[in-house]
Amino acid sequence: MSLPALAQFPTIRPRRLRQTAALRQLVGETHVHASQLVLPLFVRPGRKSRQPISAMPGVFQLSPDELVREATRAAAAGIPAVLLFGIPERKDNRASGAYARNGIVQQTVRLLKKELPHLLVLTDVCLCEYMAHGHCGLVRQAPGGATILNDPTLKLLARTAVSHAEAGADIVAPSDMMDGRVRAIRTALDRAGFANTPIMAYAAKFASAFYGPFREAAESAPKFGDRRSYQMDAANANEALREVALDLAEGADIVLVKPALAYLDILHRVKTEFGYPTAAYAVSGEYAMVKAAAARGWIDERAVTLESLLAMRRAGADILITYAATDVAKWLAEK
Ligand SMILES: [Zn+2]
Repeated sequence: MSLPALAQFPTIRPRRLRQTAALRQLVGETHVHASQLVLPLFVRPGRKSRQPISAMPGVFQLSPDELVREATRAAAAGIPAVLLFGIPERKDNRASGAYARNGIVQQTVRLLKKELPHLLVLTDVCLCEYMAHGHCGLVRQAPGGATILNDPTLKLLARTAVSHAEAGADIVAPSDMMDGRVRAIRTALDRAGFANTPIMAYAAKFASAFYGPFREAAESAPKFGDRRSYQMDAANANEALREVALDLAEGADIVLVKPALAYLDILHRVKTEFGYPTAAYAVSGEYAMVKAAAARGWIDERAVTLESLLAMRRAGADILITYAATDVAKWLAEK
């Protein structure tokens, strides 16, 4: 970028374009729009049930009927998509609830597609919520410790994704971080007649302390060990690009970076390098911090939330996944 030789103060005055809201809006490089928002929702069996999640004020584990109400409010506010996480009645060591034909997510997808046919339904594809041990894959216990098995897990993930597509899911979103899962899911979807179902891959998902409140929400905390043998190390950016490249080569349509705010450099590099549709997931810890500080009057919830989302957009995110989506859509409409 080069400036004309004489372009300097007082000829150049950057403040000229900051004088009014209309001027600032006119030259704004980045915008947050309701059409970019995705609302994550947690569903569990039951009727007329809303169980609050203590570290995430305003977020609930919902029975399917209540989830439809929540999704209806989101859609009315202009949000195009929800992302479903399921909490099954029973857990086991094969995550059978994840791919059950009438599992909690499968039932809820059918219900949503019937009640709100225009709302996009994205489904989280993972096994941790359905595993008794809470890990994202099959586990082999040995005297030296437990191993999370990669290749045998792929078949279960693929089965889960196909069962979601059969129920009517518009996009499947694998979040497990097993190697090769995008290819396994793509192949299984194609074989089952779902060649047109897109995959949004959690391509760069970091082993992060910011997920704390989510584990309560999804009841998916590992019973032993942690997820650092499959989720990424927070220190690594080049590796994140390799993960994204692999997922794209395996057939991912959208790539996702998670968490968002502490990983804006990753978002930026992913968008710049690959130019694919890129999603940012503003995780439970990010939401909880804003809620907690706002409750004490220490920050302005609305301003901080909107500024954070704008930062994700500026870094390169096309899609913003946030628990605050419905509030954000309303705030944007009031602006
Ligand atoms: Zn998982």
